[in-house]
Amino acid sequence: MNDVQPAPRQGQGPAHYVGGRFDDSGARFPLVSPADGTVIGSVPEADSLTVDRAVRAAREALAGPWGEATAEERCAVLRRIADGMEARFEEFVAAEVADTGKPASLARAVDIPRGIANFRAYADLAWGRPEQSFATPTPDGAGALNYTVRRPLGVVAVVSPWNLPLLLLTWKVAPALAAGNAVVAKPSELTPSTATLLAEVMDETGVPAGAFNLVHGFGENSAGAFLTAHPDVDAVAFTGESATGTAIMRATAEHLAPVSFELGGKNAGIVFADADFEAAVEGTVRSSFTNAGQVCLCTERVYVERGIYDDFVQAVAERTRELRLGLPWEDDTQMGPLVSALHRDKVLGYYRLAKEEGAKIHTGGGVPAFGDERDGGFFVEPTVLTGLGQDARVVREEIFGPVCHIAPFDDEAEAVRLANDSPYGLAATVWTTSLSRAHRVAPRLHSGVVWVNCWNLRDLRTPFGGVKASGIGREGGVHSLDFFSEPVNVCVKL
Ligand code: NAD
Repeated sequence: MNDVQPAPRQGQGPAHYVGGRFDDSGARFPLVSPADGTVIGSVPEADSLTVDRAVRAAREALAGPWGEATAEERCAVLRRIADGMEARFEEFVAAEVADTGKPASLARAVDIPRGIANFRAYADLAWGRPEQSFATPTPDGAGALNYTVRRPLGVVAVVSPWNLPLLLLTWKVAPALAAGNAVVAKPSELTPSTATLLAEVMDETGVPAGAFNLVHGFGENSAGAFLTAHPDVDAVAFTGESATGTAIMRATAEHLAPVSFELGGKNAGIVFADADFEAAVEGTVRSSFTNAGQVCLCTERVYVERGIYDDFVQAVAERTRELRLGLPWEDDTQMGPLVSALHRDKVLGYYRLAKEEGAKIHTGGGVPAFGDERDGGFFVEPTVLTGLGQDARVVREEIFGPVCHIAPFDDEAEAVRLANDSPYGLAATVWTTSLSRAHRVAPRLHSGVVWVNCWNLRDLRTPFGGVKASGIGREGGVHSLDFFSEPVNVCVKL
């Protein structure tokens, strides 16, 4: 293994991290800037042997100091990781921005702080977590004590997407480590850089070798598939497309590994006539176009009570036209490019389909022309559509771009029916000033998360996940700790 170089290592680009050692050998593929289409680096692709080494390193870590660590010690490790990330905050911002093309302001305000917060939140949650106990009566009158302890699952695979790369990776890595597992992580092939920085921080802060391993590569016939099909992986936590979830479930079925899936969405917003109009317009624009619509929670279907429908469409379209598209480091940029040429082509395909299906395009629908280097990037126009029925593919399928379709409804029951008429069920947003209506409608929505008069307001202690094709299981708070551990009931006869 003379291809393995010793740590420490800082900011030298994407590398695997296996058993406490960085390794950037082997076949490589290019890393492309979404902002201008230039090649900005290259990424090593893990073959099945590298993935196998990572799984073995994780297994060995469980038999070493990491496996022996107490919950208190593990929580201290998580806090040190958070501190280490904070010390390299701007490097994380730069890496995330380079890979995704998202506005630096967004990475600074959301991606990186949340990536750090995930470690602190799970350190708090794992340390403060109570367990159940029951005093059980017995015929002899002495009784028995039942109590529950939690054991880690073992070697956990974490497979994550490109839209919020660090945030979504750490959302799973932090609770998995807090619960005492060893992790093999496979970030998206499009966004390998912050994951590598995270490995560097783990290395610097003395996380025991093998507790966290990182392999890069693609999904099918590559690192993702090798990892999720590996017979010595005890569980898979995955965020990504629903179709990928199906492929991973097939692979894990072979060895019966439990899965936690956070999948796609086609999220509905419902705007009642009694809503604060301005807040609903602003909220809808934000929920449709944040991160160029590339947040699993983004609203792609908006249903508006008929009395305010025309004014609402006009106001959203106007506000959308004002969005400033630009390079990530420009202070006034509000929307960046899509993540890749492939994804841009997919989104533009839906823009074309919308026209074919008979949509009215109020703004957008194409590619902006800048006359500078941005024309080499993967920008599309933010787009507002109306006029399609519930059966249109543009209304049923996840586009994952900066686009929303707005349709009218006449009463509360119809609004609920339209919102629920979807194969997905991740997040919904309700805009109303009626307290009783809000409480009546929210639980009737077939959705894992419902926001009332807000969007994407997150508390990391709450359950997060989707119904129907949007996911299996819940993460967040104790739900993540539950997934990443097994309860063992101990019954003691007194
Ligand atoms: P994707 O499913 O294409 O890829 C996600 C990850 O899975 C990547 O690391 C990829 O390499 C890997 N992968 C792909 N095929 C695989 C296979 N056959 N076996 C194993 N691994 C495989 O998703 P994406 O395009 O990166 O991300 C966008 C999707 O993620 C959207 O559908 C979005 O809604 C969803 N998403 C969901 C949530 C949520 O919390 N529910 C959050 C963010 C994104």
